[in-house]
Amino acid sequence: MKDEPLKEPVRIGVFICHCGSNIAGTVNVEALAEFSGKLPGVEFSTHYVYLCSDPGQGLIKDNVKQRGLNRVVVAACSPRMHEETFRRTVKESGLNPYLLEVANIREQCSWVHMNQKEAATEKAKALVAAAVMKSLHNEPLEPLTIEVEKSVLVVGGGVAGIQASLDLADQGFKVYLVEKQPSLGGHMAQLDKTFPTLDCSSCILTPKMVEASRHENIELLVYSEVKSVGGNVGGFEVTVLRKPRFVREELCRACGLCAEKCPVRVPNEFDMGLGERKAIYIPFPQAVPLKYTIDPEHCLYHQKGVCRVCEKFCPEKAVDFDQKPVEVKLKVGAIVIATGYEPYDCSQKYEYGYGRYKNVITNLEFERMVSASGPTYGQILRPSDRKPPRRVAFLQCVGSRDVNSNKYCSRICCMASVKQAHQVKEKDPSSDVVIFYTDLRCFGKGYEEFLERVQGEGVKVVRGRVAEVLEDVSGNLRLRYENTYLGEVFEEEFDLVVLAAGLIPSDVEELRTILKLSTTPDGFLAEAHPKLRPVETFTDGIYVCGTAQGPKDIPDTVAQASAAASRASALLSKGVVTVEPITAEVDEDRCGGCGLCVQACFFNAIELEVREGMKRSKVNQVLCKGCGVCGATCPSGAIKMRHFTDEQLKSEVEAILSTVRR
Ligand SMILES: Cc1cc2nc3c(=O)[nH]c(=O)nc-3n(C[C@H](O)[C@H](O)[C@H](O)COP(=O)(O)OP(=O)(O)OC[C@H]3O[C@@H](n4cnc5c(N)ncnc54)[C@H](O)[C@@H]3O)c2cc1C
Ligand code: SF4
Ligand code: SF4
Repeated sequence: MKDEPLKEPVRIGVFICHCGSNIAGTVNVEALAEFSGKLPGVEFSTHYVYLCSDPGQGLIKDNVKQRGLNRVVVAACSPRMHEETFRRTVKESGLNPYLLEVANIREQCSWVHMNQKEAATEKAKALVAAAVMKSLHNEPLEPLTIEVEKSVLVVGGGVAGIQASLDLADQGFKVYLVEKQPSLGGHMAQLDKTFPTLDCSSCILTPKMVEASRHENIELLVYSEVKSVGGNVGGFEVTVLRKPRFVREELCRACGLCAEKCPVRVPNEFDMGLGERKAIYIPFPQAVPLKYTIDPEHCLYHQKGVCRVCEKFCPEKAVDFDQKPVEVKLKVGAIVIATGYEPYDCSQKYEYGYGRYKNVITNLEFERMVSASGPTYGQILRPSDRKPPRRVAFLQCVGSRDVNSNKYCSRICCMASVKQAHQVKEKDPSSDVVIFYTDLRCFGKGYEEFLERVQGEGVKVVRGRVAEVLEDVSGNLRLRYENTYLGEVFEEEFDLVVLAAGLIPSDVEELRTILKLSTTPDGFLAEAHPKLRPVETFTDGIYVCGTAQGPKDIPDTVAQASAAASRASALLSKGVVTVEPITAEVDEDRCGGCGLCVQACFFNAIELEVREGMKRSKVNQVLCKGCGVCGATCPSGAIKMRHFTDEQLKSEVEAILSTVRR
């Protein structure tokens, strides 16, 4: 690590960006440039319309070279947006990139003080003065480089995880695909047809599942969960727990004799509880791998120590009650998270009667019902009397776009209902089908056309939330709703009500804690930047895709999975990764070995070491994120934060105070 201070006299260049009118519309950039030119150490100051543009960056490079500048201050937008760009510019002009300082005069001045031009300009002066004063103490820093393992862990075996795994495996990387259920497939495997093209979901998904299971570079770890993750980008050390199937995968030929003889029947979760399965089961006929699993929660032998009928009838001697959980240790360079979604629990909307009225079902239950491999073999039947319904209502936004549940739009439910309404009409063109909506959001390619087609088939759409669903003795359902176009309240009777349940994140709290990932306020995993880094997380080397990141349809899920795979592959292909040198550094002479910093560090980057008989803390430069918590905790001031030293921070504060007091 080279962090020697510069020996030659400081010559700072200050470059002020207009950001078109984003900054210059509020901040007086000419006055700011003039003010900056008089600050200590400043050799040159100027302003330019778009500094991030090619000529803007050229302006910085030319001036550094021609005027012999050795520090650069850029006053522009948030460093989160463009610090990297300007660091590159500074590097290209021959300086160490950490001799750049950014003052954020867009978000912190022009945007928040839009109608206070004078005050915004004064604040911009204070921020630029702070950046200049810090710049006087800035030192060159060198990033660390570490070697990268050419393998990836993908967590979640839905369409997102499968796509990301295939993309990475095709590029020659070793992929470990971890799925907590006994089969790959996720929710897409539960769908019948997919909007807007109406292709059969399993016809497009099954070949991908099979390809993933046969790919020489993919190792499937189904019925498994990630237990711990150590290490860092380029070299994550992962422990995966393989749950016992109590059936030996290598022997089971999926003949199904065991399940035929098993006396236990339980609701089948894959069919959303509408059908049944045995205690020894495969989740669905196209499961991958096609191997039986014993569910210990319902198996008579596991619960009561009796039965073992499956073992007796299995011709392959595949049943193995002695199987134990097995821990698998992996070393991977990157991790892709594709843990998907769960449907919103509609029983929380008491007014719609889900869970109380038999003929109120959810849209995922409808998918299973309408599927030829589902519990009713594709017939749409009322659960109460198993008669085909003549009048079907779809209720939108159940658990979405609602301050009392989730504020966000679940993005897929409008199209899912349009598709399902078509499926009702397809089976019985004379049926009455109504979609009650808040807004119909048909945003994708071919989606609006599909809505038009379905309306042409006679499906009615009514704008207005249904206030209440009531059931009569025959199981029929009376809906009270306001048509918000007409401004009138109506009551209408239906035979079946389908609730378009919103999407909520899967329960990934344990995984999130292990990986130290952040979530957005709605609970989905947060990306590093919604526009510029949509599949990266705040942890280097960890990527997120599919509905784990937010509600989305299959085309967007697949596109995002490929994007995550491509980001991971860009990292792995380089072979080495560079790590920010803005980290904590311990002054051994001051450290008393109290260990408070070890407890404080959220990233487990500090440990105590015994050196010459004394305890001393030591920072792992690769794990350290430079957050500064340890520095603030240390009672003896032994921890210095590179690039944010006490001296640097104090000089910023002093500069702000002296500018404000002027
Ligand atoms: C009723 C309904 C109808 C729909 N119809 C359509 C349609 O017609 N067209 C369309 O484009 N989209 C449709 N969708 C949306 C579609 O289901 C999703 O876009 C797609 O399934 C998202 O895939 P995914 O891989 O992100 O998530 P998922 O399918 O949820 O897969 C996530 C996987 O991760 C696993 N997992 C979760 N946590 C862990 C963990 N900790 N460790 C290991 N594994 C884990 C899960 O078991 C699951 O297998 C519909 C959705 C619904 C609800
Ligand atoms: S540097 Fe930032 S503030 Fe300036 S033009 Fe570019 S985006 Fe706008
Ligand atoms: S031992 Fe368990 S899984 Fe096997 S047949 Fe009996 S109940 Fe079913």
